[in-house]
Amino acid sequence: MKSARAKTPRKPTVKKGSQTNLKDPVGVYCRVRPLGFPDQECCIEVINNTTVQLHTPEGYRLNRNGDYKETQYSFKQVFGTHTTQKELFDVVANPLVNDLIHGKNGLLFTYGVTGSGKTHTMTGSPGEGGLLPRCLDMIFNSIGSFQAKRYVFKSNDRNSMDIQCEVDALLERQKREAMPNPKTSSSKRQVDPEFADMITVQEFCKAEEVDEDSVYGVFVSYIEIYNNYIYDLLEEVPFDPIKPKPPQSKLLREDKNHNMYVAGCTEVEVKSTEEAFEVFWRGQKKRRIANTHLNRESSRSHSVFNIKLVQAPLDADGDNVLQEKEQITISQLSLVDLAGSERTNRTRAEGNRLREAGNINQSLMTLRTCMDVLRENQMYGTNKMVPYRDSKLTHLFKNYFDGEGKVRMIVCVNPKAEDYEENLQVMRFAEVTQEVEVARPVDKAICGLTPGRRYRNQPRGPVGNEPLVTDVVLQSFPPLPSCEILDINDEQTLPRLIEALEKRHNLRQMMIDEFNKQSNAFKALLQEFDNAVLSKENHMQGKLNEKEKMISGQKLEIERLEKKNKTLEYKIEILEKTTTIYEEDKRNLQQELETQNQKLQRQFSDKRRLEARLQGMVTETTMKWEKECGDIYKTRGGGQSVQFTDIETLKQESPNGSRKRRSSTVAPAQPDGAESEWTDVETRCSVAVEMRAGSQLGPGYQHHAQPKRKKP
Ligand code: ADP
Ligand code: MG
Repeated sequence: MKSARAKTPRKPTVKKGSQTNLKDPVGVYCRVRPLGFPDQECCIEVINNTTVQLHTPEGYRLNRNGDYKETQYSFKQVFGTHTTQKELFDVVANPLVNDLIHGKNGLLFTYGVTGSGKTHTMTGSPGEGGLLPRCLDMIFNSIGSFQAKRYVFKSNDRNSMDIQCEVDALLERQKREAMPNPKTSSSKRQVDPEFADMITVQEFCKAEEVDEDSVYGVFVSYIEIYNNYIYDLLEEVPFDPIKPKPPQSKLLREDKNHNMYVAGCTEVEVKSTEEAFEVFWRGQKKRRIANTHLNRESSRSHSVFNIKLVQAPLDADGDNVLQEKEQITISQLSLVDLAGSERTNRTRAEGNRLREAGNINQSLMTLRTCMDVLRENQMYGTNKMVPYRDSKLTHLFKNYFDGEGKVRMIVCVNPKAEDYEENLQVMRFAEVTQEVEVARPVDKAICGLTPGRRYRNQPRGPVGNEPLVTDVVLQSFPPLPSCEILDINDEQTLPRLIEALEKRHNLRQMMIDEFNKQSNAFKALLQEFDNAVLSKENHMQGKLNEKEKMISGQKLEIERLEKKNKTLEYKIEILEKTTTIYEEDKRNLQQELETQNQKLQRQFSDKRRLEARLQGMVTETTMKWEKECGDIYKTRGGGQSVQFTDIETLKQESPNGSRKRRSSTVAPAQPDGAESEWTDVETRCSVAVEMRAGSQLGPGYQHHAQPKRKKP
C-alpha cells in the first residue's frame, strides 16, 4: 500500500533534474537477429552477454587497404539470436513500465539499419508479440481493478489532463456512444484476428506495489515523423479514395512545464490491452496506406507510440476520484521505432525521395550530434547548446534527455556481412549514447490522505481476516449500470447493459486465462518437483543397491573368515591335546630319567667302593704276601705255600654303610642281590691261592682254604 503520489516530471521544479544529483547512463542494449540464410557470411559475433565483436568481411579488407580492426563493443546487455521476446521484455521494458506505474517517464527506442529487427523487437511478428503489446499487457495487469471509468480523465490541448466526476463521465459516455462513430469505444468488438496472436501474451507480468488508493487512466497516441513532418496516425479524417487528401502535419509545442508535445494530437483512452493494440494497429494500417499512396520509403519514417498513464488519488472516503486537478500525476512511456539508420545511397533513392530521405537521415544525424554534445558537456563540464531543435525527432525527445526519466535504446543488428559498414556506424553511435547520463526520476511525493482508503468502506470478510478472494474478484468487475427501461424509446440502457456484461465477460475470460496460466505454471512446477524427487529417489536407490552389494560381499567375507576361524580353533584344540600328551610323556620320561640317574649313581658309588675295597685287599694281600714271603711253607710237592692266618671279609652296610667285618661263617644266606654279591665276593676271596715256586699256575688256581681261625 502506497499513499505516495508521483511528482509529475513535467513540473518546472524538476526541470533538468535539479532536485536530484543522481544520474543514470542511457541503457544501451544490443539485439542480434538471426541470419536470413544459414550459410550467409556473418560479421558479428556475440562474445558474451555484454560484448559483441565485429569481424571485417573479406571484401572490406581489400577495399580498405588494411584499414580494418576486429573491434569489440560492450553494451549493458547483448541479446543473441535465440533471445525470446519475453526475455528481452523482462530486462529492457519491464523496469520502464514499473516506473510508469510509479509516475516516472520513460523512453525506449530501437535503432539500427533497415531489416535489422527494429519493428520485430518493438511491435513483434505474428505469434511473437514485441515490447509494445507486452508493455500494454503489463500496464493493464497492474492497474486492472483500479481503472477509472472512461471519461473521468479527459485530455486537453495543453498536454495536461482534466478530471470530472463519475456522473459527468457517465453522461459523456452515453453521449458519445450515441454518436455514429463506433471507433471511440472498441470493447464491444472481437479482437482483430489480424493481430490477435501478437497480443496473447502467455507470461503474466505485473508491476510491484501499485498504489491502490489511486485510480488510473491510460491514453495512447501514435505519431509518425517523416521528412521532418509530424503526422497523427490516430486522427480520424474521412478518407477519400478517389482524391485522397495529403495528411496534415502537426506542430510541436511546449507546455507550461516546458515539455514538448504534438499540438492537437489524438489521445485515445483505452481500457484493455486489446483495445490499446487495436488503436495502434489502426494507426499502423493508416501509416502503410499513406506510405503506399504517397510513394514513401516506409523504412525512412520514425514512429512514436506514446502511452500516457494518468493517476489521481481517491478521496478521503475512498469512493470517488479526488476532484483536484493538481493532484493528477501524468507519466509517459514513449516507444519509438526509428527509421533505418543506413546512409541514403543504400536504397538508391532518387529525386524527391532522395531529398526526403536526406531529411530523415538528418533527424538521425541530429540525434547523433545531440548525443555527442550531451556527452561532451557531461564529461568536460562544458555548456554547449544541444541542437535538439534541429529536428522534430530530437526536439520531441528533448525533455527525456534534459529533464528526467529513464532512457533505453535497443541497437538492432543483422549480422550479415553486407551490413558490416552500417553496423560499424551503429556501434559507434551506441558507444557514444551509453556515455550520456540522464537525471534519475524522483519518487512520488506523499499526497496527505490516509492510505488504505479504497477498501476501508467496502464490505469485507470476517473481521481481522484478509479480504476473501471472491470479494477481490468481484471488486475487479465494473459495476452494472441501471437496468430499468422507463422509456419505450430508450436505446441506451440495453446496449449499456450489454457493454457492461461483455466487459465482465472479458474480465472473466481474462481471469480464467490467468487462472489457467497460473495453474499450468503450478502444474509445471509440481512436475518439475516430481521429476526432481524421482531423480533423487533413483539416485538414492542406486546408492542403496551399491551399499547392499557391498554389505553382501562383506557378509560373504565374514562367513569365509568365520569358517577359517573354526578350522583354526579345531586345529588349536588338537594341538593342545597333543601338547598335553607330550607333556605327560615328558614328565614320565623325566621321572624315569631321574630314577635311572639315581640307580646309576648308586651303582657308580658301589663300583667305587668295590674298587676301593679291592684296592685295599690288593694292598693287604700284597703286604701279607711280602711278609709271608720270609716264611714260605715248603709244600709236600717240594713247592712253597703261603699260609693265610686269617681271612677278613669287608662288608658295607646299606644304606648308611658303616663297614663291618663279617666272618664267612657268621654270614647267613641273604635273599637280596646285594647280600648275594657280598657272599659271592666272600666266596671268591675265601679261595686260597696255592702256588708252587716256579709253578706255571697263576693265582687262578683254586685252593680251598682252611676254615678261619679265631684270633686268640
Ligand atoms: P526493421 O524494422 O529493422 O527494418 P524488421 O523488424 O522488419 O526490421 O525485420 C526484418 C525481418 O527480419 C522481419 O521479417 C522479421 O520478422 C525478421 N526478424 C527480425 N529480427 C528477428 C529476430 N530476432 N528473430 C526472428 N526474426 C527476426
Ligand atoms: Mg521496421
